[in-house]
Amino acid sequence: MNEALSTDLEDLAQEIAEGRRALHQLPPELDVAQQAGVRRRAAEIHAARLGDSELTLGNVAHFSLDAERASTQNCENFMGVAQIPMGLAGPLQVRGEEADGSFFVPLATTEGALVASINRGCRAIAKSGGAVVRVEDVGMTRAPVFRTRGIEETQRFLGWVSEHEDDIRKLAEQESRFLKLQDIRPAIVGSTVLLRFRFTTGDAMGMNMVTIACDRVVNLLEEKTGVECIALSGNYCVDKKPSAVNFQLGRGKRIFAEVVLDRGTLATTLKTNAEALAEVQYRKNFLGSISAGAMGYNAQYANVLAALFVACGQDLAHVVEGAMGVTCFEPREDGSVYASVTLPDAPVAAVGGGTGLGTQREALRALGIAADAERPGAAARKFAEIVGATVLAGELSLMSAFTSRDLARAHEQLGRSKEP
Ligand code: NAP
Repeated sequence: MNEALSTDLEDLAQEIAEGRRALHQLPPELDVAQQAGVRRRAAEIHAARLGDSELTLGNVAHFSLDAERASTQNCENFMGVAQIPMGLAGPLQVRGEEADGSFFVPLATTEGALVASINRGCRAIAKSGGAVVRVEDVGMTRAPVFRTRGIEETQRFLGWVSEHEDDIRKLAEQESRFLKLQDIRPAIVGSTVLLRFRFTTGDAMGMNMVTIACDRVVNLLEEKTGVECIALSGNYCVDKKPSAVNFQLGRGKRIFAEVVLDRGTLATTLKTNAEALAEVQYRKNFLGSISAGAMGYNAQYANVLAALFVACGQDLAHVVEGAMGVTCFEPREDGSVYASVTLPDAPVAAVGGGTGLGTQREALRALGIAADAERPGAAARKFAEIVGATVLAGELSLMSAFTSRDLARAHEQLGRSKEP
């Protein structure tokens, strides 16, 4: 139940619901809880007009997070929370450079059967000695788009950028102690120039710091060259869209995870065999994906990433990028199979964004993820290694379910709504 509001607050809610006041224009003397209450009430009044006069946003109102922080750093017009069930999978055996050992992985999802499926993959990995995982810190990118008068001005512009790369670096890196410019990659189309700036960003995912740094650089470039920037993001970054450039060059972390499963583990834990897995891989993930023009040659990276990203405070829209990638199954000697996942574009963070919120920070700590001032970047790489091994667990289990035709049965048992 939404708590009853005082007459003043009820009036404010009425004004919002009637369109006489904007959601963000509440009196500053109201605290964050009162403001949230007014917005919930406005939504209830509006729902009554839509025909649901019984609605109370009591569940949305029920939370333990730091509303002050959430409303100023994470979510404007704050009114409460969306709750998502969180399950645990594991132990997940990881043989990474930062994550070396066994982990219980928090997964937040509304998809019945997902956690059970990943859990089964974890068991198969554990029986096989753990997943070998390596992570390359490619870095975060932003690509402003500029307009020149044509080829000659484009040449002069790019010449200036290349001659002054050290000045650009110095200016950009002032934005954060953790920002290191790696390279600037141009793309030219007619009179349009895109500059893809790539930075490493320590343990942060980096989108804010990189964007603010690029804004400084853009101001310098406009002042020194007279070439106009049309947009700070020119979609050659590429943020939150599947893209060939990210697939090839990488973005965020590039993750490689692999395991060799013996015939017995395949038969007992995954109810499958090497040949069946390789065939489903070839016909579904390769030929099916090619036929569809998809950029993900995998079974369910998005499912695993979304559940981990929600639980651990990552930027959810980056699931779109992470979902590009290739799963491989290769039959080896004695009925074993080599299985791998490759994620070229996985932006992840151990600090910043949603990682500081209550449940998300707890989930990261449950994985032993905490930034170390002596080794910036190590915590984010560790998290990326766990991400890679969890994605591998998800692929093993779902691909096996396809070979044994268990997919529909598992969802029928675990995922069907019992409501009328
Ligand atoms: P941020 O929270 O803006 O910056 C990270 C902060 O953490 C900095 O203040 C940094 O210190 C501090 N920090 C402390 N220890 C660190 C360490 N070991 N490594 C790195 N930083 C450390 O986060 P961000 O990663 O730059 O940006 C992420 C946010 O951007 C997310 O909320 C995401 O949703 C949002 N986003 C923004 C855009 C955009 O266009 N701006 C686009 C997509 C997403 P310093 O003060 O020394 O830097």
